[in-house]
Amino acid sequence: MNNNPLSFVQPTADSPWGTYISQVDRVVPYLGHLAKWAETLKRPKRALIVDVPIELDNGEVAHFEGYRVQHNLSRGPGKGGVRYHPEVTLEEVMALSAWMTVKCAAVNLPYGGAKGGIRVDPKKLSHKELERMTRRYTSEIGIIIGPQRDIPAPDVNTNGQIMAWMMDTYSMNTGTTATGVVTGKPIHLGGSLGRVKATGRGVFVTGREAARRLNMKLDGARVAVQGFGNVGSSAAELFAQAGAKIVAAQDHTGTIYNPSGFDMADITAHVKATGGVGGFKGAEAMDGEAFWDVACDILIPAALEGQITAERAQRIKARLVLEGANGPTLPTADDILAERGVLVVPDVICNAGGVTVSYFEWVQDFSSFFWSEDEINLRLDKIMAGALKHIWDTADKHRITLRTATFAVACERILIAREERGLYP
Ligand code: NAD
Repeated sequence: MNNNPLSFVQPTADSPWGTYISQVDRVVPYLGHLAKWAETLKRPKRALIVDVPIELDNGEVAHFEGYRVQHNLSRGPGKGGVRYHPEVTLEEVMALSAWMTVKCAAVNLPYGGAKGGIRVDPKKLSHKELERMTRRYTSEIGIIIGPQRDIPAPDVNTNGQIMAWMMDTYSMNTGTTATGVVTGKPIHLGGSLGRVKATGRGVFVTGREAARRLNMKLDGARVAVQGFGNVGSSAAELFAQAGAKIVAAQDHTGTIYNPSGFDMADITAHVKATGGVGGFKGAEAMDGEAFWDVACDILIPAALEGQITAERAQRIKARLVLEGANGPTLPTADDILAERGVLVVPDVICNAGGVTVSYFEWVQDFSSFFWSEDEINLRLDKIMAGALKHIWDTADKHRITLRTATFAVACERILIAREERGLYP
């Protein structure tokens, strides 16, 4: 079998798709007879590249490159966020879509995996330009998305407002009010209570369960967070409420450290006012690379892929790494952390809280009946803790890492569906 069957990308060992392929290769020995279908996991079902031209406020026309990749639809419609970032590539979106396939199966949601993105620095666009770009992108990918086909959601640099424009554009183009076409929407448009903080809450729930197994008390535990956006800040808030000290944070504006822990209300207000953690008065600024040497018990990478390299993995002091981000750890770093006895709760289960509440949102939209926030948080907690327990049992049974165990549980579900559906025609 050709190991690099995709002519349109050239993955490397450290690139997101290369990382994903190496994770699949590690699980194949545990798939039994289903291994014959494993090649399915190494190819996206469908990848769409679109040109997104918009008129800028100054009258000029700008073109952006957009993507929507549906990696696997064996278990249900595609599900996955949309990322706006200047470094988005087709290869990155492919990997993110594949991780969505694995993640949805790991928590047993009836979805396949998809992801989208636009190669753009959204901070350089005005509000109106952002809206025009979002609407044109939605129209372009409109031929493959839909409430029963593929349901986008927020990711890096996208939020409820962007989901509202996507929902409206799709609805205008189809002559419907299609609330179920995207999740992560504002509450008045069929959004779900608890969705905004759901990913961070899932990071907290899996972290709480892992800490319990490690006999680590959350009260007084020192936490370092990379990325203080939606995922990182929500997780930090819940850990702080459980008595942990948030001692370090890093984002695109700087790196800050305070061994006594930040005041969460102050840091939240600072980030809201300035757009980042840089310049926060309640902590000292430090060099970005020193973040990986910080004395802490729990490390939460919640920014972008490929952050924990082999070299950084040697220096990490934490006993527990909670992957809020997608793909933050390179395979070589994974091996080093395992050898050093650092427990990694992998992205494909750790950050599945967002898609789980997205699923709740989609179900609520279809039934037009909405649940209370307490009910949502309770159901989320139960699903995440239950999924992690099943994964942990699998890891113990085969003596494998939690990442390979999550892939084993998920890939078995995906490939059983693949086999039962059979090949068409
Ligand atoms: P966000 O846009 O709200 O925040 C991203 C954060 O990363 C910001 O604090 C930003 O400053 C920081 N960042 C960007 N570049 C950085 C760099 N070079 N160094 C350090 N920090 C940097 O995005 P988010 O929704 O919080 O997503 C963060 C991660 O979590 C991504 O990997 C995303 O795919 C993943 N994720 C998000 C969700 C969700 O529901 N939003 C769900 C699952 C996984």
